Amino acid sequence: MTVHVVGAGVAGLSAATHLLHAGADVRVHEAAPIPGGRCRSYHDPMLGRLIDTGTHLLLGANTAALTYLKRLDALGRMIEMAPAAYPFFDLASGHRWVLRATPWGLASAFRPVALAALNTEPEEASWLAIASVFGRLLAESACRPWIARHGIGDAMVEPAATRLGERLRCGRRLTAIESGGRQATALLFGDERVTLSRDDRVILALPPVAISALLPEMTLPTETRAIVNAHFRVSAKPESPRLMGLVGGLAQWALWRDDVISATVSAADGLLAESAEALAARFWPELARAFDLADEAPVWRIVKERRATIAATRRAERSRPPARTHLANLVLAGDWIRTGFPATLEGAVRSGEAAARLALAQGNILG
Ligand SMILES: Cc1cc2nc3c(=O)[nH]c(=O)nc-3n(C[C@H](O)[C@H](O)[C@H](O)COP(=O)(O)OP(=O)(O)OC[C@H]3O[C@@H](n4cnc5c(N)ncnc54)[C@H](O)[C@@H]3O)c2cc1C
Repeated sequence: MTVHVVGAGVAGLSAATHLLHAGADVRVHEAAPIPGGRCRSYHDPMLGRLIDTGTHLLLGANTAALTYLKRLDALGRMIEMAPAAYPFFDLASGHRWVLRATPWGLASAFRPVALAALNTEPEEASWLAIASVFGRLLAESACRPWIARHGIGDAMVEPAATRLGERLRCGRRLTAIESGGRQATALLFGDERVTLSRDDRVILALPPVAISALLPEMTLPTETRAIVNAHFRVSAKPESPRLMGLVGGLAQWALWRDDVISATVSAADGLLAESAEALAARFWPELARAFDLADEAPVWRIVKERRATIAATRRAERSRPPARTHLANLVLAGDWIRTGFPATLEGAVRSGEAAARLALAQGNILG
């Protein structure tokens, strides 16, 4: 009795480590050469530094993601920034202020917080999605940002991959699913065919675009939004990471960690056609002013994640499917399925745990 988890992003890793913890026999199949999916860190040769696919923050409200880290003894790989106080800088007026975690403070920063959490312009976001964010930010501790000490992959991915060991195999792309009646009967990884026994279970922790190729009969959310990140290597390092909200310009948030400053723009589809050179030339003067730096033309890298997350519009929210599928032994996981959370790490962790519980219950694997 084996549970096959396909996809080693955070949802797949959350499902797999949950199953491992429950004593199940688990195999993880990942198409890419390394695990982590959209939540990866990698060495960038231009910067000569480790960077994240994009700056990833957790909030104190993300209790499932923090519990996942605790379970993997990885909470110490994150830094909790307390008390919850966010410096802001208005690039147009030069005004600086600190946003405190009070209901009034959050209301005044509605737009930047909603944009970052939903990756969708608040004007077109579903009210339910907006409520799911702000309804969880009522306590000061829930508003505290948690930042990875050495990169998000080091915290969210590496400890899980180590725990899984040889059960996690990369470079294995699922290309087809065979089924008979209401059961998946085999998984095809190119030429390799893995036959499923009656007791085996499958968790597909894949993005919608991959699911639609494998299960074309499913209706899935198709609307996505981009995130653009600009990374600059600078000559100074802050004593501890500095996070800043930016309004009145291009950058929305900036994180200065070690000697790299990373700027983020959510719902950034309008920037995709712009060249990396042009974007770097727009971002750097903003960051230099925000952090009062004199570096001229630092080394940079622009990263455009075209399909960073599904959109949080009403239409996309309505088309998020539940974990169960028409195949009795196959369930879905991923930040984009119907979790009640936006498409974030918290949603991904929760979806993985829910899928693992379903697979255990369906298969009665342990008994
Ligand atoms: C730039 C950026 C910034 C972000 N910032 C934040 C943030 O600050 N806070 C936050 O909470 N969230 C943030 N997110 C969202 C967060 O990264 C995602 O919610 C989370 O990583 C999704 O995990 P997942 O496992 O659902 O999907 P994915 O990470 O997409 O994982 C799917 C995996 O499946 C694999 N795969 C695909 N097809 C196949 C196949 N056929 N066979 C086998 N494997 C396959 C992929 O390679 C991938 O590893 C950000 C995302 C981006 C892109």
